[in-house]
Amino acid sequence: MQLLRGFILSFAIVLLLVQLVLAAEDFYKILGLDKSASEKDIKRAYRTLSKKFHPDKNPGDDSAREKFVELAEAYEVLSTSTTRKIYDQYGREGVEQHRQGGTAGGHAHDPFDLFSRFFGGGGHFGHAPGHRRGPDMEFRIGLPLRDFYNGREFELNIERQQICDACEGTGSADREVITCDKCSGRGMVIQKHMLAPGMFQQVQMQCDKCRGQGKMIKKPCSVCHGKRAVRKEVETSVTIEPGMDRGMRLVFENEADESPDWIAGDLVLILEEKEPEISTDEEHRTDGAFFRRRGRDLFWKETLSLREAWMGDWTRNITHLDGHVVQLGRKRGEVVQPLSVETVKGEGMPWYSAEHLYDYDDEGAGSLFVEYIVILPDQMESGMEEDFHALWDKWRKKNGVDLGKDSERPKPPVKDEL
Ligand SMILES: [Zn+2]
Ligand SMILES: [Zn+2]
Repeated sequence: MQLLRGFILSFAIVLLLVQLVLAAEDFYKILGLDKSASEKDIKRAYRTLSKKFHPDKNPGDDSAREKFVELAEAYEVLSTSTTRKIYDQYGREGVEQHRQGGTAGGHAHDPFDLFSRFFGGGGHFGHAPGHRRGPDMEFRIGLPLRDFYNGREFELNIERQQICDACEGTGSADREVITCDKCSGRGMVIQKHMLAPGMFQQVQMQCDKCRGQGKMIKKPCSVCHGKRAVRKEVETSVTIEPGMDRGMRLVFENEADESPDWIAGDLVLILEEKEPEISTDEEHRTDGAFFRRRGRDLFWKETLSLREAWMGDWTRNITHLDGHVVQLGRKRGEVVQPLSVETVKGEGMPWYSAEHLYDYDDEGAGSLFVEYIVILPDQMESGMEEDFHALWDKWRKKNGVDLGKDSERPKPPVKDEL
């Protein structure tokens, strides 16, 4: 009996623990993360998802609104180390209890407030009239052709103006903003000037106490010194999809300079193709430095000796931009004319479309055009030269080649050279 009771008790504890763990996963799941997520991951997830599910972008969609509110809740708790710790240990209820404990700052924010802390403005996108929008920012980034072929993900640090986290954009150390007592919040004061004894003129002037703001803070924030925003490097995750073209604009909505006075504009990255460099790192070497791109197609120049071009019996292995090998070659007796172009289907750039996911096997991949350059020897050993000379002479006398026949020239053919 004693044993059974002990068993039931421990079973109940296990159940309780399981419940706690399940609850603890919740907020992370909402952000698409797990417990090991870094501060940066949490910020990034909120940044992306809150824009996606913002009610302004999903009018009439109640599930999006719900998700938006959930995201704010999850971010709110996980972005502060104290509440995150409590949450990890005791779950939502623990956080609730902590909040009811009445410590300052424990209250839940309005989800739109939270959103505006990230992106500036009134918590909404700039659809409503009267909302000022900040300037867009444009940057050019140069990438090697290899990245356009394979795709790449990387972090880019760009210095931008950010709403001050420490004071949540109020500029005030205690986050309190008071109305100026000198002008009663009007920002203007009336001053009397004496023009002559007994004669006054009233002049409206900017309030010097609040510098025309109408509002004041008692103690300026120590981080932004009351400016409400700070300049700092912000990490942006950039994804280059295979097959993207140069000149493409990657738009990061509302990620330009932030300010409490406006809705942040867009950060725009313009992709450029960097001049190829011959890699010194043999391990990662591909022949990529020699590819040229036009749209979906790639161009390549291959050099053949006179013997190869004429007699055939050769192979070439081209290392493609992702390291796979494309083999070229001719059997004995197969002639390659100088400057002729061979088309290798499917070996151009991958097919990319903003609307569809990339599929390597897609028939939409471009072609690889190989142009053959034939090099004639300008020096020969004397014995070899004599042999060739004799050979030419012998066969030229026997039967020349009709040069006009192949080129379809209308003039009577010249029967001379082989
Ligand atoms: Zn004032
Ligand atoms: Zn501040």
